[in-house]
Amino acid sequence: MASARDEWVAASSRFAAIWQVGKVPAHLLEGPPAHLDVEASDSVSLDVQAIVRCAQRVSGGRTALILCGSRLRTRECPDLLGYADRRARVVVLSTSAMQSDQDPELLLARLRNVLAHEQGHLDGRSHCRTAGCVMRPVSEAAYLDARPLVPCERCRRPRFRRAVALAAAAAALALAVLLFDGVASRLVGPAFEMPFT
Ligand SMILES: [Zn+2]
Ligand SMILES: [Zn+2]
Repeated sequence: MASARDEWVAASSRFAAIWQVGKVPAHLLEGPPAHLDVEASDSVSLDVQAIVRCAQRVSGGRTALILCGSRLRTRECPDLLGYADRRARVVVLSTSAMQSDQDPELLLARLRNVLAHEQGHLDGRSHCRTAGCVMRPVSEAAYLDARPLVPCERCRRPRFRRAVALAAAAAALALAVLLFDGVASRLVGPAFEMPFT
């Protein structure tokens, strides 16, 4: 069985660049650390959009993964586990938001889970309410331990197939209405004709 570390390395190595912001546990990174030039503090949460803009300036359009030692926030959300910007092709994960209590295996497993979720956003998936789905949002790091790494059946279906299924359902409904209309008019008899038209 693959270790949490192997799985983490396999998932994170799909990104063309990996940078860190602030202090990040060394076992997460292969080779010497590459810092992204964002002013970081371990006590204050950072605006994730500022990190994305900074990454975008240096990534040259490549996919980039940013590991941040601080907590993350957006204007709408005061505390984030991770964040994906599909247009910028940037994913940001907060290592301190994982609440792993210095347990390196737990940290790897939780980061791997959030990465799978954010990767889903990069692939165009949105949030899902199904319990057994990686795209289900969680409010606390501990919930990550029960969230699967893969999307549910519905989220796995390619987008155009979902659109085709929707169109087919609409067409079936329209046909049903027409048929019902036809049957109804036969039962009721021909439409009443106005005598003076
Ligand atoms: Zn999400
Ligand atoms: Zn789903």
